[in-house]
Amino acid sequence: MSAEQYRVGSPGGRVAKKRPLEVDVMLRRIEEILSGYTGAWQIRRRGDSDWSGARDRETSLARLADLTVRGDVGGAWQLRPVGTPGAVFVVRKVEVAPPVASPSAGTDPLKEIHLAYFERFPDHESWGIFNCRPIAGSSSWSQHAWGNAEDFSDGGVAAAEAQRWFNENTSRLPIAEVIGRGRIWTKASQGFRALSPSANQHHDHWHVSADPLGDGSPPCAP
Ligand SMILES: [Zn+2]
Repeated sequence: MSAEQYRVGSPGGRVAKKRPLEVDVMLRRIEEILSGYTGAWQIRRRGDSDWSGARDRETSLARLADLTVRGDVGGAWQLRPVGTPGAVFVVRKVEVAPPVASPSAGTDPLKEIHLAYFERFPDHESWGIFNCRPIAGSSSWSQHAWGNAEDFSDGGVAAAEAQRWFNENTSRLPIAEVIGRGRIWTKASQGFRALSPSANQHHDHWHVSADPLGDGSPPCAP
């Protein structure tokens, strides 16, 4: 199985248990979607505030292919028809139960969590480990910048089954923090509690940081 695959969502909806796609199948699926709407399209990386300029279907497909193939695992791109801006489609680059091959991919404690998670949930996906960036909407560094956090999904829905598994295994594994389904667990406070309403609710994946947490400035910082 190829390590890098893609998931294509439907407008506004969550995609549950949908199989990841090889790149050529992903592009064919996008082509189908584009052909279902007349007129121009816009693209943006998820998390960006601005959309691209309007492009015709052919140019949009080529641009999206370029962005997604070059982009990092965990990255998501949105596309929308200019005439129907509410119909937003999402393309996300995922890995399916990937091995942690390179030590630079994750810290040792994270590797332990990763291996245990995929032993229990072999058909779930990793949405990525290393990503040199601050926490969205914050100036603090994300644990992803140390390779000390991983995003797990069962296919677009942060499932209750995984929450139970985290509950049962937080003491056995070097876990510092779990966020998902609008809830957060930390080693310091134990037990899941509600996230503050302004926080990213993580409905479609579990974000897990390993213990000990990276502190200060990560090695990847400019
Ligand atoms: Zn994350």
